[in-house]
Amino acid sequence: MNDYLYEVARRLIEFDTVSANSVVPAMDYLAKEFASRGFKTALQPMELLGVSQANLVAWAGPPRSDGLIISAHVDTVPYAGQPGWEREPLKFEAAGDRIYGRGTSDMKGFIAQCLDAMRTQDLSKLKRPLVFVLTASEEVGCLGAHEVAPALKQILGECPVPKLAWIGEPSTYEVYHAHKSIVSFGVTVRGIGGHSGAPAKGVNAIAVMGRVIEAIGRLQEERRMSPDADFQTIFADAPTDVINFGTVRGGLALNMIAEECVLRISYRTLPNADPLQLYREVEQRVAAIDTHDYASREHRATIEIGLPMVVPPLNSPRGTALERALFDVTGAKTSGGALYGTDGGWFTSSGIVSLICGPGDLDQAHQPNEYIRREPFERGTAIVHKVIERLCNSD
Ligand SMILES: [Zn+2]
Repeated sequence: MNDYLYEVARRLIEFDTVSANSVVPAMDYLAKEFASRGFKTALQPMELLGVSQANLVAWAGPPRSDGLIISAHVDTVPYAGQPGWEREPLKFEAAGDRIYGRGTSDMKGFIAQCLDAMRTQDLSKLKRPLVFVLTASEEVGCLGAHEVAPALKQILGECPVPKLAWIGEPSTYEVYHAHKSIVSFGVTVRGIGGHSGAPAKGVNAIAVMGRVIEAIGRLQEERRMSPDADFQTIFADAPTDVINFGTVRGGLALNMIAEECVLRISYRTLPNADPLQLYREVEQRVAAIDTHDYASREHRATIEIGLPMVVPPLNSPRGTALERALFDVTGAKTSGGALYGTDGGWFTSSGIVSLICGPGDLDQAHQPNEYIRREPFERGTAIVHKVIERLCNSD
């Protein structure tokens, strides 16, 4: 058993890096660890969603082109209020062939492997740059990556920004080169309140929201009826854009006309599309709906569509040196599409080709009693070493 690997993972799980909290203490710890191995480090401080956050960049190797970025997010999804927990979320607990704790699979286990690999990495042997990029606020819309990807050139200074990024998101060591975009926004219907006994004096916002949902639901149906042949294998479950009604809230009481109703919605578009095209279609459809209440033709509701938050898609070219290295080293035979979004979308926007491949188990990510299996956890240090050997140590 490798003590340092377990020690780093234990420390990382103990930092409560749920996205609503600051990751800065965890980043400070990681920066110290990388610096103690001889890396240059830089924290990129920022304020995200009202919280002080930071990304960490740690780099080594000669200032040549064609190096490698290895990337992971440090934040996790929440655990408080999530039913089903039978273990301490912030306690790193090994039991049988599993290691439990929030973030073990997604994706602190991978970060521990990276640091463990650096324990025995001779940085003077690097022939190309090796750059670790650790991000904040991935789970709330890849906000950290949005800041760090375009800033890498400035942060790295004379060291050229590598064109390849390996993101160790949970994939049970399968390789993914594509994922859909994620776009989220709110729709607010404002009606006119009043007593439910006199509906004609008001406009019920819930009633009008029903029409909004119907209009957007039709769009989803149309998309479902015309799947994209190019993505039949990559996204076998849904080779189309998909729309999800996330939450809807409206009304105060049974005897009151609902004055306001708010829908939160997200969708995922195929990686070859402009992520905002569907948003514009939603705007058009919603603009065309009848904003009267069913109870009266007298008054109208107003509908406001909020600004979209966008996580860009990933659609990396096949056959890169990183893909070959990941195939050889992990035993993966082909590359597919991930069901989730990643920081890779923002790397792509900065001209960095990203691939996803990591030790965690997607079925465990975001789950109560999250765990990583011992075997892929312990195997990962060697995998990190070998990928670096291929991409940074050879001519
Ligand atoms: Zn993740």
